[in-house]
Amino acid sequence: MSQRERILTLITAEGPITVERYMELCLAHYYAGRDPLGAAGDFTTAPEISQMFGELIGLWGAALWQAMGSPTPFRLIELGPGRGTLMADALRATARVPGLREAVQVHLVETSPALRERQRGALAPSGVAVHWHETVEEVPTGPAIAIANEFFDALPIQQYEATERGWCERRVALDGEGLRFVVQADPDPTVDAPLRPGAVVERNRATAGIVRTLAARFVGQGGALLAIDYGYWGPAFGDTLQALRAHAFTDPLEEPGEADLTAHVDFREIARAAAEMGAAVHGPVSQGDFLRALGIELRASALKARATPVQAEAVETALLRLTDSAGMGELFKVLAIADHSLQTLPGLRPNPLEDEP
Ligand code: SAH
Repeated sequence: MSQRERILTLITAEGPITVERYMELCLAHYYAGRDPLGAAGDFTTAPEISQMFGELIGLWGAALWQAMGSPTPFRLIELGPGRGTLMADALRATARVPGLREAVQVHLVETSPALRERQRGALAPSGVAVHWHETVEEVPTGPAIAIANEFFDALPIQQYEATERGWCERRVALDGEGLRFVVQADPDPTVDAPLRPGAVVERNRATAGIVRTLAARFVGQGGALLAIDYGYWGPAFGDTLQALRAHAFTDPLEEPGEADLTAHVDFREIARAAAEMGAAVHGPVSQGDFLRALGIELRASALKARATPVQAEAVETALLRLTDSAGMGELFKVLAIADHSLQTLPGLRPNPLEDEP
């Protein structure tokens, strides 16, 4: 039975399912058995564009580890590591930081068996011990630095539509042979956004839950999370659910489980979840500003200095793609949460959460 047939059967039996449940069912199937990244896949991410991305994030982590007093051991956590490219580049770039190799333990939170295999292959040459987990709760206690690049956008959202009755949750129903969106009859009184006709608001409980877990952990044991994703400082009044297949947008209801489903990340939701647990918030800043502050231009010049003209051209193209406002530089944002003992984080400024940045 295809995932589409499974979803149709479920809705026939139980009635319309929430957008959240629909995304969960689609994404579990989508990620389980494939490598969706790269030219032959559905989408490309920053670490796949250039080694500079993972290298700079590795150095960011190393600087933080030193600011934490170089705890040994410490956990370097990555959420949704894809092909393992970011982590491999980060470990290579930090290999000579004194004491780090002896201290670092890599913990990858990854549900996809297919991608775990890719990660195993990518990280074997590093010689660093790597552990895999289904959820972030499974990562052993202790000081930690966590990285999440294009992870939170892959978690299921709830959507609510403004109606005369109030905010009503969106569901997915049968429509002949296909699927369509409907709204639940009863409004949900817990949505506190001002009602505007035709508006849609989104919530991401999975993200908020993971952030609360990490924030509580950092407050008690030390550490920080760096989250990089495309998104906004919410609430936004619009539908951001989108489907990508072979690098082109498709209808999210068209090919359940076969297209990549994502939603924009609400960085304010992350910041609030972290603040609730007593963690500090840094940023968000644009990816372009963040990478420039970490020295991506210098790194690009160093790579170009020992490259062939063709390679140098590729480095320059990657630099622009990662930092330019026409590429990922503006749309992608960087936010960190950390325990309060870490006063400044490289490339970011503290966010007191009183004003919108
Ligand atoms: N960070 C990588 C990959 C982004 S794609 C990069 O930048 O290239 C999203 C990643 O999150 C994939 O590795 C996917 O398998 C993983 N993932 C998706 N949902 C997950 C979940 N609920 N728990 C853990 N990993 C998940």
